[in-house]
Amino acid sequence: MTPLGARIAALIAEAGPITVADYMAMCLGDPEHGYYMAREPFGRGGDFVTAPEISQVFGELIGLWAVAAWMAMGAPPSVALVELGPGRGTLMADLLRAARVRPAFREAAAVHLVESSPRLRAVQEATLAGQAVTWHAAIDTLPPGPSIVVANEFFDALPIRQYARTGGGWAERMVGLDGEGRLAFGLRPAGGASPSPALALPEAGREGEPILEVSPAATAIMAALAARIARDGGALLAIDYGYEGPAFGDTLQAMRRHAFVDPLADPGEADLTAHVDFAALARAASEGGARPRPLLTQGAFLTRLGIGTRAARLAAGKDAGAAAAIAAAVRRLTAPEAMGTLFKVLAVAHSGLAALPAFDHDERTDGA
Ligand code: SAH
Repeated sequence: MTPLGARIAALIAEAGPITVADYMAMCLGDPEHGYYMAREPFGRGGDFVTAPEISQVFGELIGLWAVAAWMAMGAPPSVALVELGPGRGTLMADLLRAARVRPAFREAAAVHLVESSPRLRAVQEATLAGQAVTWHAAIDTLPPGPSIVVANEFFDALPIRQYARTGGGWAERMVGLDGEGRLAFGLRPAGGASPSPALALPEAGREGEPILEVSPAATAIMAALAARIARDGGALLAIDYGYEGPAFGDTLQAMRRHAFVDPLADPGEADLTAHVDFAALARAASEGGARPRPLLTQGAFLTRLGIGTRAARLAAGKDAGAAAAIAAAVRRLTAPEAMGTLFKVLAVAHSGLAALPAFDHDERTDGA
């Protein structure tokens, strides 16, 4: 067992089973052994690859989206450009480079990064050397005022709680210990139809699809950001793998060296995520007072923003190998069998914002 696994097992032996959310939070955020605190997760030598690490075009297109959103906001003279969970800082670096097309935007935008890991913050500092950046451990300290918020693979890292419908009503899935003292899943009766008044659980689960997931952390962050946007103006873009729920099924997953592993096997040494329930995020945004747009697939989003044209420009003058690599990266980001369909894009904006690039889109110009 990993050092963190031994600590979690001792805690459970002492105080009883913990929720899946607490387990995730410890695995990812433990100050000493937590996955994002201690490891280098990204890239070929890491555990997984994210879209900004696949191609610079990804962050560049989001930069152009941000510029267009800012113009739709009426080009305010100051705007907080916020990224949640910036990883290595690659997306923000590509975004800022592309945003130079509109110097007034660069002058207006103050960069704010929300990052809980001091180690990744140091990586971001190196990637963004020369840029003025303010870091925040959580969204609470973001300054008031209009904002443009982007988040790629952030919401999937937030803890989820899992519920199962049993003969005796809803039960919460817990992490406890088996007879040999190893971490094991179990169920704890949640009492009544809805285990918590804060969680609107459907009355009836469906046979054979036993697990229902909710992420109170994700919906709380979305609602707070939506309330900011409703008050001060702005727009938000959340990109992640996920579904439009409610959906039944266990999506808790652990990834290590590009392979799925048992989520209980290596606490702190595997990335632990869950698929994002975009319907729940959109609902939270509405409740916060902002307007969510219908969900787009990542493939449709990037295509509408002109990924084909941008990639062709990048490939121009490059040798055949480099051009093929660019084309392969575009396919990976957009093809339905790669990231194009599983990954989805939710935009949320102030209700007064007329048009959002890619979302308020004239279908007749598709592919033009
Ligand atoms: N956006 C990056 C990284 C995704 S990994 C990319 O696409 O490559 C998730 C990121 O969110 C990491 O930077 C991680 O440290 C950060 N993170 C996870 N949980 C967080 C939390 N609760 N608050 C702030 N940052 C968090």
